[in-house]
Parts: sequence; C-alpha cells; structure tokens
Amino acid sequence: MTTADTTLPILRSSVATDRTLAPMVRAPDGVRGVRLVDAHGRTIRDLRLSITDRCNFRCVYCMDPSARFAPSEALLSVADFARVARIACALGVRKIRLTGGEPTLHPRLTELIAAIARECPAEIALITNGSLATRSTLRRWRDAGLRRLTISIDSLRDDRFAAITRSQCKVATVLDAIEAAIAEGLTPVKVNAVLVRGVNDDEAPDLAGLARRYGIEVRFIEYMPLDSGHEWDASRWVSATQTRRMIETKYALRACDDDDASSTARLYEFADGVPGRVGFIAPLSAPFCGACSRLRLTADGMIRPCLFSQDEWDLRSLLRDGASDDAIAEFLTDAAWNKQAGHGVDSPDFHQPSRSMSAIGG
Ligand code: SAM
Ligand code: SF4
Repeated sequence: MTTADTTLPILRSSVATDRTLAPMVRAPDGVRGVRLVDAHGRTIRDLRLSITDRCNFRCVYCMDPSARFAPSEALLSVADFARVARIACALGVRKIRLTGGEPTLHPRLTELIAAIARECPAEIALITNGSLATRSTLRRWRDAGLRRLTISIDSLRDDRFAAITRSQCKVATVLDAIEAAIAEGLTPVKVNAVLVRGVNDDEAPDLAGLARRYGIEVRFIEYMPLDSGHEWDASRWVSATQTRRMIETKYALRACDDDDASSTARLYEFADGVPGRVGFIAPLSAPFCGACSRLRLTADGMIRPCLFSQDEWDLRSLLRDGASDDAIAEFLTDAAWNKQAGHGVDSPDFHQPSRSMSAIGG
C-alpha cells in the first residue's frame, strides 16, 4: 500500500435510482455449461448466497433503522439455494459463503447447510454478527456441514457497540461466539471489523488485539458506499493504510511472507512473534477486482456479479418457472461472463447501487 491510498476520487456518492435488468451478453460456446469464467479472464470459484436480507442489528454503516425488506414470498427456498449451489459447484465453484442480512436468522439454517453439503463438494462458510452463535448452534451447523466461520465486531465497548449496531447485543456475546467457533473447530476463524471515522477508528489497535488474544485473523474492511441510508461520505472513510498505522502505534507489524496476491486481504503478522494476523481489505484504496472470483445470489433470487453492480439478473423466475438444470447452468455461465472488470468506485462518475450491502450479501 502506498501513502496515496489515503484519499479518494469520490467524496460523496450519488445513488443509482434504477436497477436495470440489462440483457446479458452470451458466453462463448467453449465455456457454456463447463465452467464459470468472465470476459476478463477470471474464473468464478466463490459463490456468496445471501440467504436472508433480515437482520437483528442495524449497523450504522450498513442498515438504516427504516430499512425495508423483500416480502417473504420473494425469498428463495432452501431447495432453490441448494439447487443453485449444486449447479454452481458442477461449474467449478469451490467455496460457498452464507451471508445476508444475518444468516443465522434463517429459520431453516441447519437444513439449508445440510442440503448444500449433501450435494456440493465446496467448502461451506458463514459470516455472522455472532449474536446467535453459541456452542450448541455452532455444533449443530458444523454437524450439518458448515466448515468455517467469520464473525463481525466493530467495538469492544458495550456502549459504543450498542450505538453502532443499534441492538441490545453485548460485546461479551460476540466474543463468546468467537471462542465457541474456535472450540467447535470452525477454523480458521476470522473476525471482520469496519472502521468509521469519529465512531470507532480509535479502537483499531484494540480490535487488532483480538488477533493476539485468540490467535486468529482480524480483518479491517474499508467502509464502502453500500449503506442502506446512503450516508457514506469520504470524510467517514478510514483507509487501510491509516488503519495499519494506528495499529502500529501499539503493535509492530510485518507483512506475511505467504500473503497470497490473489487474496482480498493483505496480511500482516505481529513482529514480536505472538500468533495471530491482521488483514486489510481495501476495496476503495487498493481494489482487488483483478483477482475477484465471486458471484453473488441475493435472498430474492437475483444474480449480481459484483457488490457494486448496477445490473442484476433474475434467476428466481427461472427457478420458479421450472427451468432445467442445464438452463440454470447456462444462465449462471452467462451471468459470470458479464462480470464487470472492476467495481468502478474509483471513477468520478461512480453511483452507489440502490441495493445496500445487507440486501446484496456481504
Ligand atoms: N450480518 C453478517 C455480519 O455482519 O457479519 C453478515 C452480513 S454483513 C453485510 C457482511 C460483512 O459486511 C460484515 O463484516 C459487515 O461488517 C460488512 N459490511 C456491511 N456494510 C458495509 C459497508 N458499508 N462497508 C464495508 N463493509 C460492510
Ligand atoms: Fe446486520 Fe451485518 Fe448489516 Fe450489521 S453488517 S446490519 S449485522 S447485515
């Protein structure tokens, strides 16, 4: 990372008002039904399933208190998700991440994990706010086929945690969830944190300290213009470089030798040798689009090739209209082919998508 990555071309993003169901360019015959590749040479290995858009938190950087949800009848069923996962795996997907909204609110989560695990060779991971992840729920999900857990936490202070999440959940509940995930072997456990300037950026060293306390990876994700209230502006944004410097006031870091260039996170270890790592996910200051291997399915059945896509394509209608597996495979192949080269947030004419992170699946 360079010092230049502490400024952004956009100061405040305007919001795209319409979601277009743009026509898809057809993928070439050579890849149709064989594997998921895009027109820019990337292969899709990672499918993110947003299994619900509901959440029991209202994080300030994600979901406005007045956020509206898709009607229940619009949401995909367990069978739909499992079917899409199976077809995507046959096309080369190797990792399935369940997200949301808050995926642990899904009333049939155990069944859903089991259904995907039964049919897919992929690793199944889940990202959660940790509020409902106890030893017993985690054991149930692990026994159903869950393999890895990521837990989000943005403050270690109860009053601030309550203000950020606008929930009754306690910090101790989330820390217990981290310990429970480690104890249940859902490893490597990762922790995500988002810093918002003037809200919790002074906690960067303490949050990084969780990596040392538990011997895990704590990843700082740059605040992205994907909040449902559309209140993001550059003055609240904290770059990965600034975050690293704040952490280094307390802990000396050194870049990891085995840092994988295709990974989204730049990884550091503690110079004093204490186990644990700190990662920086810098979609705005150091975009990793060239290595992106993701495709996303929203809870209401839309395929989105990028978090920042203005385009999405309606898979739900195909699923409900009795399409064959081959037709769904073709649809996924075309959607992957249409993945944009980059998210475009660094462009001055960037528009925030009308869907928020929680409605896309982070
Ligand atoms: N509810 C779960 C959670 O919070 O972990 C899963 C869904 S949440 C949308 C997935 C991740 O997206 C979380 O780590 C959250 O902190 C992150 N996130 C949400 N809104 C964001 C934003 N505007 N910028 C950056 N990260 C965001
Ligand atoms: Fe809910 Fe996760 Fe968004 Fe927070 S970040 S409001 S927990 S979906």
